[in-house]
Amino acid sequence: MAKGARRCKVAGVGPSSTLVACHDCDLLHTVVPLVAGRVARCRRCGGTLYTHHPAKGLDHSLAWVVTALILAVLSYAYPLLTFSWQGQIRQESLLTAIGVLMEQGFWWLALVVVITILLVPMLELLGLLVLLVPLRLGRRPWRPMLLLTMLQTVSPWGMMDVYLLGVLIAYAKLSASALLIPGLGLFAFGGQMVAVIAALHHLDCHLLWQCLEEEEDG
Ligand SMILES: [Zn+2]
Repeated sequence: MAKGARRCKVAGVGPSSTLVACHDCDLLHTVVPLVAGRVARCRRCGGTLYTHHPAKGLDHSLAWVVTALILAVLSYAYPLLTFSWQGQIRQESLLTAIGVLMEQGFWWLALVVVITILLVPMLELLGLLVLLVPLRLGRRPWRPMLLLTMLQTVSPWGMMDVYLLGVLIAYAKLSASALLIPGLGLFAFGGQMVAVIAALHHLDCHLLWQCLEEEEDG
């Protein structure tokens, strides 16, 4: 949410507004009714001003959120890596790795992993889901301002990319002395990270505000 949310401005778009400012260059335009499927663009920079059906513009982001949630379940359920060393085979998943850290006394590191790898990404995804699904169905989401604030607050604490990098470095180092087989959980974890980035990239905050204003006015 963070990148998109930081770019957001609250614009006067909706049935009650007659003027709308371009989010990219601030040029003012008069709001005119659009036919289905049309998009109003800034006449100076070409940026999107508003659309006939703003909720449809959130579909891409919503699809990536659902994809990320499915991949998250797979990454928790399946092993990240399978180790084979001196005849012993051991599988480690994200959850068992956290358990090993706690068993060895690194409870603070386990806590950091739980917050940055499990809690924050799930809060982001569920927050986006609770926000986008009602808008897509033409309803007002539950406490949208609280959800947006929560998303913007927790977003900087998500560190899936750092964790994935750590796993890949460990894989490269250990592969010299043991047989390592990447598991479905590792691919799902990488896919989840990509899906979260795509969901945030496709989230058009301008359309989001437009949807929220329309639901408020409606
Ligand atoms: Zn513009």
